[in-house]
Amino acid sequence: MNNLNKNVQFVKGVGPKRLKLLNKLNIYTVEDLLNYFPRSYTDLSTLSNDILNKVDQKIITSMQVIDNGYISRPKARLSIFKQKFKVNDIPIYLVWFNQDYLKGKYKIGDVLLVSGTLKKIGREYQISSPICEIPDNTRYIGKINPVYKLTKGLFNNTLSEIIKNALETNIDNIEENIPDYIISRFNLLKRKNAYENIHFPNNKELLLSATNRFKFEEILILQLSLLYYKHTINHIQGNLIDDNNKILDYISKLPFKLTNAQYKVLLEIFNDMNSSKKMNRLVQGDVGSGKSIIAFLSMIKAAFANYQSVLIAPTEVLAMQHFESLKSLLKLLDLETEISLTYLTGSLKENKKILIKENLENGLVNIVIGTHALLEDDVKFCNLGLIITDEQHRFGVIQRGKLESKGKNPDVLVMSATPIPRTLALILHGDLDISIIDELPPGRKSIKTFMINSSMLDRMYNFVKKNIMNGTQVYIVCPMIEENDDLKIRSAEKVYNELKNEILKEFNIKILHGKMQAIEKEEVLNTFISGETDVLVSTTVIEVGVNVPNANIMIVYDADRFGLSQLHQLRGRVGRGNEQSYCILINDNKSEISYQRMKILENSNDGFKISEKDFQFRGSGDLFGTRQHGIPNLKFVNFFEDINLIHDVQGLCKNILAEDPSLNLEKNNRLYKEVNLFLQKLSEDNISLN
Ligand code: ADP
Ligand code: MG
Repeated sequence: MNNLNKNVQFVKGVGPKRLKLLNKLNIYTVEDLLNYFPRSYTDLSTLSNDILNKVDQKIITSMQVIDNGYISRPKARLSIFKQKFKVNDIPIYLVWFNQDYLKGKYKIGDVLLVSGTLKKIGREYQISSPICEIPDNTRYIGKINPVYKLTKGLFNNTLSEIIKNALETNIDNIEENIPDYIISRFNLLKRKNAYENIHFPNNKELLLSATNRFKFEEILILQLSLLYYKHTINHIQGNLIDDNNKILDYISKLPFKLTNAQYKVLLEIFNDMNSSKKMNRLVQGDVGSGKSIIAFLSMIKAAFANYQSVLIAPTEVLAMQHFESLKSLLKLLDLETEISLTYLTGSLKENKKILIKENLENGLVNIVIGTHALLEDDVKFCNLGLIITDEQHRFGVIQRGKLESKGKNPDVLVMSATPIPRTLALILHGDLDISIIDELPPGRKSIKTFMINSSMLDRMYNFVKKNIMNGTQVYIVCPMIEENDDLKIRSAEKVYNELKNEILKEFNIKILHGKMQAIEKEEVLNTFISGETDVLVSTTVIEVGVNVPNANIMIVYDADRFGLSQLHQLRGRVGRGNEQSYCILINDNKSEISYQRMKILENSNDGFKISEKDFQFRGSGDLFGTRQHGIPNLKFVNFFEDINLIHDVQGLCKNILAEDPSLNLEKNNRLYKEVNLFLQKLSEDNISLN
């Protein structure tokens, strides 16, 4: 849409004042303006018949003027103009307040289209403050009207007028981006028409077609881009990471028996490693399904085959925990001397870092675990063969490339924190092969989950006290660190102070949040891991990975403020030890939806199901964040409602790439362009390395 890059100030109707307002809505170019889609519509398209049955409802009908009307002034500063109309010989009075100028505007015999709420006052039918328009030249009536999200000072009618002007002058600059053969095969609206009808639908059918066209486009480009990207990386030669299956001997020496699902996934990974094809694999498994051991065994295998490997975690806390776990595993397997393991994070002392980097570069270290400090340019490897990112949603698709450039096409394994159903995983992680751990280790006690409201806090804290006196520990999570006047939610600081000074003053309480220094966080967490701290009040910094088996209660304040998958992750911090564990969701929101959402957590412990429901409730847009998956937001697609369309488009994408893997065919020109644009945007968008 190159020609649409013009500044929005050149659109008719946009002066300096409106320009500022548009900028406030993030509208800077004509393209931004055209992509500012309506939030909803008011449908004035269908004329009402049998209006006598529609008292107290909004009606749209054609009426004829019967008299010239009259003005009354019942009070100072109030004048009422009332004019008689008829519909099918039924008299109806239209009433306007303080608009005397209307007298004489509508003449006896005129036919008008009128919209408003029909009232019956005494025996008289009336419509107050109606919209009246002349047939054949209406602006609102007979149409479906867009409703835009606005900002103070900008009215809906103004914005829709501006958009209309922009559309009129730029319609020919809207380029088609889907090949004609696909448009005709799927009976899609042309792009120009889709833009016209999404803003100013000619009728309901066209609105639907326009919406469908945009949905189709959104899925097509996203899916095709990721599959295309996958195809290009799949053809890269990787390393043969062959240990002559030495690793298999060690699997029997583990402190527990792998579940069938873990074993299956491990073999999928080993197959990739044993082949010269570069691995790009995502491991999905519910919280507690045992993803870490899979990462560890893969790294040990790489070490056996004389390759270095790296495990990156999103936080220092997690990195350290992984380091400690792998260290004890190596000891247990009697591999301490054979395999050299180290740890690298930003908070290490400079001289220590330098030493570690030297050892990585000269190959003295086999396995390194750390945070994104590992991504820095001066971290170099001797023969990096395997990269694992844990809880990958914090890393973007393209950002992985940065790590990969540290080796010669190393294998890549991604551990996902938020399991999602396969079809959705295919959309959001279409660039990766997917392995699923669909089974939990045996003997897991299920976590009892309760939804309560604030009136039950005393009882809850008595329960907490009893548990602490029994020797267990408690997590308390709040949506925010500090108090915020706008929102009636309790902050971590407030809860912490209340507990420390009153409710639980006889116990050891600590607070942990994202604004603390890494060192401070580590110290606090260590006191919780060692058992010295009884209660840890925190924000979602403890959401993923943290493993303290002695903690058996997870309390979440204002639980309704969190996504379901996020709550499930939080809940996964308990249920790791021998005691019965509990998750208590405090929710004072009385809405039905909020109740239903919390019920889902009460009733299910299955992360895949929960994430599906989460998609359903949140619909499209930022769900628990396509952005969290390293993918830009979708405006139209609803992952739940549009699942059939998604299937269709997925099939189409596979066919396109089977026939034309590099999108070189003439007929796929437009797709080639869109895919490259998309991938470029992904790499520019700093979708996150932190
Ligand atoms: P997640 O998948 O959430 O990252 P972890 O890898 O942290 O889960 O594993 C959770 C706990 O389960 C760890 O204490 C781990 O040692 C244990 N575990 C993993 N696999 C098994 C198994 N097959 N049998 C018993 N315990 C296991
Ligand atoms: Mg984990």
